[in-house]
Amino acid sequence: MNQTPDKTEILGWLRETNPERLAELWRRADGTRRQHVGDAVHLRGLVEISNHCARQCAYCGLRAGNENLARYRMLADEIFESAQQAVKFGYGTVVLQAGEDYGIAAEWLAEIIRRIKSETPLAVTLSLGERPDKDLAAWRAAGADRYLLRFETSDRNLFDEIHPPLGNRKCNRIAILRRLREFGFEVGSGIMVGIPGQTYASVANDIALFRELDLDMVGIGPFIPHPATPLGCGFKIFPSVNGEQVPNSELMVYKAVALTRLVRPDANIPATTALATINKKNGRELGLQRGANVFMPNLTPPKYRRLYEIYPNKACIAETGDACNGCLSLRIKDIGRHIGSGQGGRKKHQTGTALPAEKELCHA
Ligand code: SAM
Ligand code: SF4
Repeated sequence: MNQTPDKTEILGWLRETNPERLAELWRRADGTRRQHVGDAVHLRGLVEISNHCARQCAYCGLRAGNENLARYRMLADEIFESAQQAVKFGYGTVVLQAGEDYGIAAEWLAEIIRRIKSETPLAVTLSLGERPDKDLAAWRAAGADRYLLRFETSDRNLFDEIHPPLGNRKCNRIAILRRLREFGFEVGSGIMVGIPGQTYASVANDIALFRELDLDMVGIGPFIPHPATPLGCGFKIFPSVNGEQVPNSELMVYKAVALTRLVRPDANIPATTALATINKKNGRELGLQRGANVFMPNLTPPKYRRLYEIYPNKACIAETGDACNGCLSLRIKDIGRHIGSGQGGRKKHQTGTALPAEKELCHA
């Protein structure tokens, strides 16, 4: 197999079960990671700024229909203090994530971004859902550097089933990713692995799409059922895929991470919290040894953290930022890697490079 597998090879690896063959995949992914992004592990401080959400995603515990969840929105000063904690710990980036919360006014957040950019050396990454162009443009103008928006699955029918539109606005995350690049953001996307109704072939398409989109960042985690959601309580809204259902297993996530490293050699790829949740002991370390080069320690104030319940039993729910920081530093040293310095953006990224037009992409 060459270093950049085509879709057929990707599919073969996703179905592979032989541990000796898989060891070869891990070795290739780790070698590609070392060659293209080195041994540094970049730390991004994650701040979950609001758990309000206007959407009804069938997979996520923050969905508007979950009435049993107490909702919060962090204050501007609390967000800035969390960013200062990132500086204190030596992180290069703060990631501001939330539900699709229209209570977060564009100008209110723009002011916070301007403050972080003028008073700290941090890169600012946003992950706030499908906001209108004018909001995205305002945040970019305020200095935000990166935007994360997972397309979740490239299977358009499955996506439409699990991610209903908001009002009459049709969802097209690929089109938004393209506009984010036009605005000058570094652009990240990703998928959940093991969504009910997701096939091996569709995950192979997802990984091929990462290459087509030339993404700067790719986040991959297992789908974890949440009992307060349609997909988590056995409600079958998805098509039956017979023997082709991809499992939401740890192994399948490692395969997807490793293959993603092969198709996007210089991308920033996190070992995700969802991965750490299904293997709290060493899921993150194995992710880092099978293609990943980024960690996202949680800096959300502890009083809010347990309320950001996307899925149950989330890793690191009780730890303070200090505890998370100490634990991660040790874990990274233990696998012979070191913590990256600076903002850790994608080296080859050229601001303003357009993504391929929508019609040229395989699933749009
Ligand atoms: N609201 C924004 C959005 O949807 O892009 C950002 C926050 S959302 C909670 C971040 C990511 O959480 C989603 O892109 C999705 O992949 C992941 N997620 C949601 N529910 C999940 C679940 N049950 N299992 C695993 N990951 C989940
Ligand atoms: Fe809201 Fe994002 Fe969860 Fe969907 S995945 S319900 S948009 S927080």
